[in-house]
Amino acid sequence: MVTPSARTPADPSWVTKACARCGRSFACGANTDSCWCDAVTLTDAQRTALSALRLTGCLCPDCLEGLPPGPGDEDARAAPTR
Ligand SMILES: [Zn+2]
Repeated sequence: MVTPSARTPADPSWVTKACARCGRSFACGANTDSCWCDAVTLTDAQRTALSALRLTGCLCPDCLEGLPPGPGDEDARAAPTR
């Protein structure tokens, strides 16, 4: 059964990687000038969570966008002034 991925460009310079988190294969454009991951904005808490996972490699779009904001996010927003 073939699952077509609309996120996979036909450009041969895109490589297929396995997600470091869920193992699903996805297209990585690190060899190109415009990988989809450049458009993904992570919060500081998400970056910290990623570091804590000690992942070796890239994450698929679903895992990257589905990262929980983390408990540190609220602390950053509600800066205590009293
Ligand atoms: Zn994944």
